[in-house]
Amino acid sequence: GGTIGILGGGQLGRMMAMSAAQLGYRCIAYAPEGDNVVSQVCDDVFHNKWDDNAALAAFAAQCDVVTWEFENVPVPTAQAMPAGRIFPHPRALETAQDRLAEKRFVEDLGGRPAAYARVDSRADLEAAVDRLGVPGILKTRRDGYDGKGQWRIGSDRDVAGLSLPETPLVYEAFVEFEAEFSVILVRAQDGAIRFWDSPRNSHENGVLATSTLPAGEPIEAQVEAARDLARQVADALDYVGVLTLEFFATRNGPVFNEMAPRVHNSGHWTIEGAITSQFENHVRAVAGLPLGDTATAAKSVTMINIVGKDIKGAHGHLDTPDTHLHDYGKAQVRAGRKMGHVTRLER
Ligand code: ATP
Ligand code: MG
Ligand code: MG
Repeated sequence: GGTIGILGGGQLGRMMAMSAAQLGYRCIAYAPEGDNVVSQVCDDVFHNKWDDNAALAAFAAQCDVVTWEFENVPVPTAQAMPAGRIFPHPRALETAQDRLAEKRFVEDLGGRPAAYARVDSRADLEAAVDRLGVPGILKTRRDGYDGKGQWRIGSDRDVAGLSLPETPLVYEAFVEFEAEFSVILVRAQDGAIRFWDSPRNSHENGVLATSTLPAGEPIEAQVEAARDLARQVADALDYVGVLTLEFFATRNGPVFNEMAPRVHNSGHWTIEGAITSQFENHVRAVAGLPLGDTATAAKSVTMINIVGKDIKGAHGHLDTPDTHLHDYGKAQVRAGRKMGHVTRLER
C-alpha cells in the first residue's frame, strides 16, 4: 500500500487510479481544471494552479510516489516533486512537450520522422513549403493534442490565406502512409522492458477512432524496427512507466510520428485484451513492483472510441458478449471530447 499522486485529472488518471486501488494503493490527484473525472476515484483532489508551490509541496508530502496522466503538465511542476519519487523522470515531459525537440531527440537515436522544418515566421513557412513541398501539416510545437493546433497546407494559396499563430511551429511533409500503429511499452525501475502487441490505429478528424488487433500487414513486418527505436528512447530517458510511440507504416518502413510519455488511448484495449493492462503495469512500474505479462489474451480485439456523443448511445453494446463499455463519467458532451470507449474481443 501507500499513496500514489497523479498529476492531471482526465480519464487516463481515472483508469490508472482504478488499477492502483486494485493493488492496494490510495490515489490523490492534482488537477487545476474544475471539470475533471479523476475525482470520482481519488481520495482527494488538489484544484490549485500548476505553479502554486505551497500546494505542490503539500501534495508531494502526502505521496509515496508521483506520476502523471497528462503530457502537458508544466515541467517545473513535475520538477517540484521530490527527486527519485516522481516517475517517469520529468526529462521525459521536457522532450515530448516540444515537437521539434522530440524529432531531434529521436533522430539522434537513429529514428526517422517525416521531413520537417522549424517555422517561426511567414518567411520560414514559405521556405519550408518550397523545400518540403505540399501537402504538409503545420503544427504548433507545444500544447497540441487530438489534432488541435494543426493546419493542413495543400497549396501556396493556403499559406497566403493562413493567419499564423504567435507561437513556435513546425512544418511537416505529409506522409503517404499505408497504416498507423503505436508501440506501447512499460519500463520498470530496474530497466526491464515489456511491449504490448502494436495495434492498427485509425483516426477521424485527428482523433483516434479505433485500435485493432491483429494489426496485419504492413504493420506486423514493421513492429520490430519500431520497437528497437522505442527501446532506445526509453533507455535514453531512463524511463519508468508506460511510454507510447506513434508510427506511420509506409512502403519504406516505419516513420516516427510522435511520442506520448504516458499511458495511451491506443492501449485501452489492454484492460480486457491483455494479461496485464497498461494501467496496471504503469502503477506497478512507478510503485517499484514487478511487471505483469503483456501478452494479448484474445484472437482479435477492437477498441472503439466514443467521441463527441452521449455515452448512452453506446449502451447497446452491453448486450453483446465479451464487449466492454467504459464510461468516463463526463457530465458534458462536447464536440471532439472523449466520453468513453468500447472494447470488443474474440477469444
Ligand atoms: P494525439 O496526441 O491526440 O495523438 P496530436 O494532436 O498530437 O494527437 P498528431 O499525432 O501529430 O496529433 O496527428 C494526428 C493525426 O493526424 C495522426 O495520427 C495522423 O493521422 C495525422 N497526421 C499528423 N501528421 C501527419 C503527417 N506528417 N503526415 C500524414 N498524416 C499526419
Ligand atoms: Mg500528440
Ligand atoms: Mg498523435
